[in-house]
Amino acid sequence: MNKAIRNELFSHIMNAAKIFFIIACTFVTIFFICGQIILPDERDEISQNFKAFDDNWEYVMFDNTTMPIDVPDHIDAAPGKTVTIQNTLPDNLEGVSCITFRSMWQDVEIYVGNELRTRYSTENSRFFGQNSTVRYVFADIYKEDAGKPVRIETTSDTSYSGTIRDIYLGDTTSMWTSVMKEYGHIAVLSFTLMIISFFCFLVCAILRFMYKKHIGLIYLSLGVMLCAVWLFSENRFRQLIFPNISTLSNITFWALMLLPFPFIFYLNEIQNGRYKNIFTISTLFSASVVVITSILQILNIMEFRNNVSSMHVSIILAIVVCFSTIIADTIKGYIKEYKLVAIGFFGVAIGAFGEIFFFYTTPSKTLGASISLGLTFLLVMASFKAGHDFITTENEKLKAIASNEAKARFLANMSHEIRTPINTIIGMNELILRENNDSNIQEYAQCIYSSSKMLLGLINDVLDFSKIDSGKIEISEGIYNLSNLLIDEIHLLEARVYKHNLSINLSVDEHTPSELYGDEIRIKQILTNILTNAVKYTPKGSITLNVSFEHIDEQNIILQFDVIDTGIGIKPEDIDGLFDSFRRFDILHNQNIEGTGLGLNITKQLVEYMNGTIHVKSVYGQGSTFTVRLPQQVINNQTIGNLENVYKMAKENSYVSNETFTTPDANILVVDDNEMNLAVIKGLLKRIKATVNTVNGGQAAIDISKNNKYDIIFMDHMMPDVDGIAALKTIRKDEHNINRNSVIIALTANAITGCHDMYINSGFDDYLSKPVEAYMLEQMLVKYLPHDMVIPVEDTGNTAKSSDNKIDSKPEPERSTNIINREKGISYCAGSEDFYKNILRTYCKQGHTYETQLKQLYEDNNWDEYRVIVHALKSSSLTIGAENFSEVSKKQEFAVKDNNITYIKETFDEYLISFSALLETIENSLLQS
Ligand code: ADP
Repeated sequence: MNKAIRNELFSHIMNAAKIFFIIACTFVTIFFICGQIILPDERDEISQNFKAFDDNWEYVMFDNTTMPIDVPDHIDAAPGKTVTIQNTLPDNLEGVSCITFRSMWQDVEIYVGNELRTRYSTENSRFFGQNSTVRYVFADIYKEDAGKPVRIETTSDTSYSGTIRDIYLGDTTSMWTSVMKEYGHIAVLSFTLMIISFFCFLVCAILRFMYKKHIGLIYLSLGVMLCAVWLFSENRFRQLIFPNISTLSNITFWALMLLPFPFIFYLNEIQNGRYKNIFTISTLFSASVVVITSILQILNIMEFRNNVSSMHVSIILAIVVCFSTIIADTIKGYIKEYKLVAIGFFGVAIGAFGEIFFFYTTPSKTLGASISLGLTFLLVMASFKAGHDFITTENEKLKAIASNEAKARFLANMSHEIRTPINTIIGMNELILRENNDSNIQEYAQCIYSSSKMLLGLINDVLDFSKIDSGKIEISEGIYNLSNLLIDEIHLLEARVYKHNLSINLSVDEHTPSELYGDEIRIKQILTNILTNAVKYTPKGSITLNVSFEHIDEQNIILQFDVIDTGIGIKPEDIDGLFDSFRRFDILHNQNIEGTGLGLNITKQLVEYMNGTIHVKSVYGQGSTFTVRLPQQVINNQTIGNLENVYKMAKENSYVSNETFTTPDANILVVDDNEMNLAVIKGLLKRIKATVNTVNGGQAAIDISKNNKYDIIFMDHMMPDVDGIAALKTIRKDEHNINRNSVIIALTANAITGCHDMYINSGFDDYLSKPVEAYMLEQMLVKYLPHDMVIPVEDTGNTAKSSDNKIDSKPEPERSTNIINREKGISYCAGSEDFYKNILRTYCKQGHTYETQLKQLYEDNNWDEYRVIVHALKSSSLTIGAENFSEVSKKQEFAVKDNNITYIKETFDEYLISFSALLETIENSLLQS
């Protein structure tokens, strides 16, 4: 039988089975109902040896005279007075084994003949209180007691003194069966209510625990539970169920007094606190009733029983308040927010009226039944509302997650798309910086470099931020080598400080385990962020990376990184907001430092994802220390050793740091589908004089690699036809391919997404992220080319990093600056000569202050503030038409930015002279006019 037919057959059978099940259930139900109605009653006769013993009772007065009373009855007796009633037992006591008296807050003694048969008092079995709680009191009756006198003595301090309730004769089983028939439904109802409300409470608590979401229904379920406790604690069987009913009678009152709270909390919540003032008053009143009555009861000053009226007031007040707010909301139109709950409360109101009605028509037999039904109805309605709200918010959450995912996907795609052209811009620009010596072009290219770098950083930050925001950030753990990680970081740091005058220190605890288990890429990201900040916010001095550890146990350590800089520091008041997103501080000093204010936020979240901590200590103006502590698993006990030495040796052996190199014998293949990228890498490799072939696709790479041996292949990952990974696999698998074992390095624009493991696992030797930086590219060549191929070249000056050329080269003497382009200046002042003169005056006034400040700052070597002033002079001079001086100020600004202090020192005097001359010229012109 073919699969499709089989599938169809099975679904038909399943549908038929469902119909069968429904028919069978209906049949069973009808069978049950008909059987109960039509067929004869098969129940055993319930023992009827039980009857009310309510005739012929006499009240024995203090002078021993008697007077007949009805049972039940109330005899006029002062509280504390013993009330005695008597009777004669019937002559026939067939089936009678006890006499039962329902005591009402009374101590009871039952005598048969003159023998005390039973005594009931809770005097020694209660924490506090002066009266014995309500219960059935039993006394044994024997056959020979027939015709004997029976006497019941009751004593109570309450208004129940003299109250005579039901008296029965019979056997205990029959008596309980009878009570069951009469009051069982209330016990069952209150117990059911308790179970339902407890279930509701449990569901709310679990949801809260699982979804971290507070559900108001939890209050209502507690309220209903209290009601159920109150009813259940009052039920007639309590003396059969609970070991101590004295405490239970206190519970009854406390449950009653606490009732208003949960209902008010619930309503206040679903009404969004609209009536919180009135609710507060009501809860305060209820709370005072609880406290005062409890104190009075515990100190035996006043029994709960006698305070019932204040409890009733508290409950009635709460009911009135609750219903008034519901009515107010109905009038104001808010009721639609909680229609179902309002209907539920309406149900409770009906239940309460029913309660009053039954109280007068069938006293005490239905106590609580009607209100229980009302409360169940309310709970059901409120559960519908809570369920509906929960599903709605969950759906909204799902929608929000879906839209966030869409946003994250869009951002990921966009950032990839945007990164490709930016990489090209950066690469091409790098070539301009290398190959062009014109200082103007160098300056423009420098601007392009920093702007595109910033743009790239921004895109990466936004992508990471949106991933964290939508909970999509992945922590992919694996085994890694800490020393490799640290060396990589230091190399990266070197690349960053390349254009700054900063020294780098590395100090690593020799005993730190080297092979660890954790997310290497994320740790790198964290360190890179902090180290990059250290570079950005440290104009002079040093950056130190300290690595240490602490054992948690044999297998686990806390790895600690301290990044210490001697930079601008952070003001104490800024520390708290440091890790907030989009926050940047000390704007005056940092205005020219690129940043988004996202880096530290992302860093903190990553650290927390890895169960670590990050802290900062900083002295404003002196520097900062960022400390990251991450729990990591130790793979083996091999220690890292003297990493500083390894690092120093690596540095000494590196041709790239201070010297350049050529590799005329190296054959390099670059594979990328983007012609621009190919041009960039080819351009970057021009200097090293290697033979560089380029192809624009995976298939072309496979083809060319069959015939030409390459020392290194740089292979782009994302290519349309055969992508980088597929091409690599084909080359590695092909036994005849002469490049089978060549070094193949992946080029990727997705370096931030934790792709390291993926490339290494796919068979690449390493990976290089785009935009390819000349420094990193050259590091890669030094690392992977055979040593004899790399020929160091002494730095002749021709190959100096061109981006520094413009400042390092001896500056041209400045042109005379005492010329102001008046027309230009006036044109900036909307053609108004007067306005222009005003501006000139302000310029002069400010100028003299600047002059003094510049001298001071120059002496103090305070280059940050020096930069702020020359920056201001650049633009204000342009505004007054002092174009040449503006240009000179710009050069000063750039020199500070590039940390070229030599340039400033060489030109400072000249700069000041130009400035004084300019001010003099302006002042003269102002005097003449
Ligand atoms: P940004 O992209 O602005 O650098 P971050 O989130 O990385 O964003 O840093 C937030 C702010 O914290 C920075 O703007 C800077 O004011 C301050 N900051 C961060 N690191 C340092 C540091 N090492 N020294 C001084 N200030 C720092």
